[in-house]
Amino acid sequence: MNAQEIQRAAVLGAGTMGHGIAQVLGMQGIRVQLFDVNADAVEAGIAKIAANLQKGVDRGKVTQEARDATTALITGETSMQGACEGVELVIEAAPEIMDLKRSIFEALGGDLGPEVLLATNTSSLPISDIASAAKHPERVVGMHFFNPVHIMKLLEVVRAEQSSEEAVACAMALGERIGKEPILVTDSPGFASSRLGVVIGLEAMRMFESGVASAEDIDKAMKLGYGFPMGPLELTDLVGLDVRLSIAEYLHSELGETFAPPRVLRDKVAAGELGKKSGKGFYDWTK
Ligand code: NAD
Repeated sequence: MNAQEIQRAAVLGAGTMGHGIAQVLGMQGIRVQLFDVNADAVEAGIAKIAANLQKGVDRGKVTQEARDATTALITGETSMQGACEGVELVIEAAPEIMDLKRSIFEALGGDLGPEVLLATNTSSLPISDIASAAKHPERVVGMHFFNPVHIMKLLEVVRAEQSSEEAVACAMALGERIGKEPILVTDSPGFASSRLGVVIGLEAMRMFESGVASAEDIDKAMKLGYGFPMGPLELTDLVGLDVRLSIAEYLHSELGETFAPPRVLRDKVAAGELGKKSGKGFYDWTK
């Protein structure tokens, strides 16, 4: 396994994360075979990549040549087998459902060569449990990208119990090759980023609930006092309160009371106040 020699990759799942991952790989000259069980999602993903690249051209950040070269390298695939043909890298970006991810990794591998790195973009599930479904668990690592993938610099590389040193080193080097700043984390609930990010968000909700300050002022405290680019409640609205609740429930069960979901979070989700996507969360997004 050698990150510099990766020329072809399969990305499984063409949603929010999958299309972004395909774009950053394509921008470094890696041919990408993008697969989704939903053919419309592949088409929409490829259209979003084209739109992102065009925005880059309009802002003078991407050359027209780079835009054309990248789009030429990304093709849609209608079968997982087709997507995995001839690749040195597979990145899975399917929904956050353990059984689904395990079934994908179970189906991978038999016909893939020994040099193929297998990565999952899960944001919270144990990599070791996903890896144990694969035929070659030692090749499986977590590669946790952040949204929007073409902009966010962080890449969390997660070492599962079974991950070989070679696979981990390859994922770290690949991260650098595609312009990310990788950090290495041992497989543990919430990894490094979600664990810290979620606990700050939950404490902000508890402060809001008990009337310490308004949502705007809590967010302002972190932005102006600590240099956060966005306040924790505003970020919760962008991520989605339902998404935050399910991560908090999982971390609560694994790590204890610090992660107990606050009442205000449960009440808002029950009322359909899911954040920006529903028009209301801690803020009103309808205006
Ligand atoms: P999404 O719902 O936008 O996209 C998932 C895509 O996977 C869908 O298009 C769906 O049709 C497809 N899919 C379903 N079953 C599949 C299968 N068997 N094979 C291939 N594709 C399949 O989800 P997303 O937000 O892109 O999240 C994908 C993964 O990335 C999740 O594990 C999530 O936790 C993680 N993640 C998400 C974010 C984020 O901000 N959205 C950030 C980091 C990590």
